[in-house]
Amino acid sequence: MEICKPILEVRDLYVNFYTYAGIVKAIDGVSFTVCEGETFCLVGETGCGKTVTSRAITRLVPEPGRIEKGEVIYYTPYGKINLLELPEEKLREIRGKEIAYIFQDPAAALDPLYTIGYQIAETMVEHKTVPKWKEAFIKAIDVLRSVLMPDPEKRVKAYPHELSGGMKQRSVIGIGLSNQPRIIIADEPTSYLDVTIQAQIMDLLRKLKKEKKLTIILITHNMGLVAEMCDRVAVMYAGNIVELGTVEQVFKNPLHPYTKGLLRAVPNPLTKIEKLEAIPGTVPNLIYPPPGCRFHPRCSYTMDICKREKPRLVEVEPGHHVACWLYSR
Ligand code: SF4
Repeated sequence: MEICKPILEVRDLYVNFYTYAGIVKAIDGVSFTVCEGETFCLVGETGCGKTVTSRAITRLVPEPGRIEKGEVIYYTPYGKINLLELPEEKLREIRGKEIAYIFQDPAAALDPLYTIGYQIAETMVEHKTVPKWKEAFIKAIDVLRSVLMPDPEKRVKAYPHELSGGMKQRSVIGIGLSNQPRIIIADEPTSYLDVTIQAQIMDLLRKLKKEKKLTIILITHNMGLVAEMCDRVAVMYAGNIVELGTVEQVFKNPLHPYTKGLLRAVPNPLTKIEKLEAIPGTVPNLIYPPPGCRFHPRCSYTMDICKREKPRLVEVEPGHHVACWLYSR
């Protein structure tokens, strides 16, 4: 196993949403470390907390959400910073520059009133990577070229509605990369694209990661994408990380009953299984999360302790962690 040089560390993160219906305990003590140069995946069903976790990294949790507790340690070349304690103006120098996002829906991420060139140039001017607008517009063409946009000299003057879905996503990736970030957080970057374009975008991310020595945090519900793209993976369920390890460890030797269920629910062309197995039950209401292990109402191995006490994430082999009482006693 390669030695991990940490670039980001999330420690004991708690996020609640204060809704009219009650307090949604969305993130319940999440901890993980991202190593420099790796692709780290957060995977799980919709509503498991992966997007909220990724947004909490630079304090982008939307209202009525609140980060209650925790630390996000960012390792700069000059030392460590807790991003949750940094003054907003200092954080703005990091967010979008050193840590950039690629959001889910490229159409919603782009401003329909401005050309693609303007939006890329604006990111560079705002962060003073390129101080003058004129230079930034010229640089925007290079940025579009680097994300393999066809005919970048023409597209730089295009408005979002003039571009296809794939071109919009390339533009969003371009905006993310324009300040040469150290970390890219890609939140379901292909979920709005058709399958062939999805493959092109993932190839592009792989190529850019290699060329620009990026660290990628990939948020996805797609286990196939995890297997293809990631070095390490954290499986999330109902606001907790339930398993964490290398892709090989988690796919070849899944330990947590939820991870096993997820993998049984994925079609595999090599095993001619006609019917996929669904995980019984539904995701819990996080206003009233189940006590103890949040997966216990759906788990076929539930014991008394599972209903009372929350299992901690423990290391069962080097680099492979699981939060389950089957492995904790
Ligand atoms: Fe199942 Fe208990 Fe493990 Fe939770 S802690 S996954 S309920 S065996």
